[in-house]
Amino acid sequence: MANIIDGKKISQEIKDELKAEVEGIKSRGEKVPCLAVIQVGNDPASTVYVSNKKKACEYIGIGSKSFELKEETTQDELLNLIDDLNNDDEVTGILVQLPVPKHIDEDLIIRRIDPKKDVDGFHPMSVGALLIGEKGFLSCTPAGVIQLLKRSGVEIAGKDCVVIGRSNIVGKPMSVLLLRENGTVTICHSKTKDLKEVCKRADILVVAIGKPKMIDASYIKEGAVVIDVGIHRMENGKLCGDVDYESAEKQASFITPVPGGVGPMTIAMLMKNCVEATKLF
Ligand code: NDP
Repeated sequence: MANIIDGKKISQEIKDELKAEVEGIKSRGEKVPCLAVIQVGNDPASTVYVSNKKKACEYIGIGSKSFELKEETTQDELLNLIDDLNNDDEVTGILVQLPVPKHIDEDLIIRRIDPKKDVDGFHPMSVGALLIGEKGFLSCTPAGVIQLLKRSGVEIAGKDCVVIGRSNIVGKPMSVLLLRENGTVTICHSKTKDLKEVCKRADILVVAIGKPKMIDASYIKEGAVVIDVGIHRMENGKLCGDVDYESAEKQASFITPVPGGVGPMTIAMLMKNCVEATKLF
């Protein structure tokens, strides 16, 4: 049976470290980070995410400003707000909760955020910086996976790492971060031939495929480390990942559960980016 990588515990550790760091910032009289969170419309899932982000800011002791905009908000109105926040010295991080309503161009919004305040790490400047190893914000979910591995004592250097998925927010930055840690990285996608065979070579398998429970033990080498980024709500109301946990845990040496694995790390790493915002550039 695999060791469970406890994302709840590790994310709490990180938030507590950040809380102590913010106390230090305050006691030295330095600039306290402040996150501006913008939500357009009232998608219930987004409302939960936004509320969790605000709670996390409160917990670690940084400021937050919240902008809840109507569904009918125009693209120009949103762009103007981003411009104002880019110019607001008090605000050190800006996050637009995605997805935005269909009449707004998501890429344009992401590109309008000042890269120095891009705490989600989605701006092309942040992505480019990640690729060439320059300083910049790391995409939160993949950065969280690296922390899960490191804090569980999993060595990445020299390991065969397979990432299933090549999205801009998970698969691609995940692959680059593993490469940066000196893993030997293979990226799989919907056109990959013999997915099973490729996955079975992995010492570390990161699954971000968006298909409930698709990856079972038959894709996993005995003793591999399995990280499940996927998150889905099943008909019975429970959550599951892209990995068939019951089957996979029999093959893996370490595995992340869903919920309680990668999920809690995303907000913890967002908070890390917020705290680093004042000293990164
Ligand atoms: P996307 O749908 O954007 O990407 C899925 C990727 O999987 C694509 O690259 C696609 O390939 C690939 N893929 C799909 N089907 C197959 C297949 N049969 N064989 C091989 N590859 C396949 O998803 P995201 O990256 O945005 O998210 C992935 C999962 O992670 C989702 O379940 C999402 O809910 C979850 N997620 C969780 C987060 C968290 O905080 N825990 C944060 C973000 C996402 P191709 O490019 O060829 O189409």
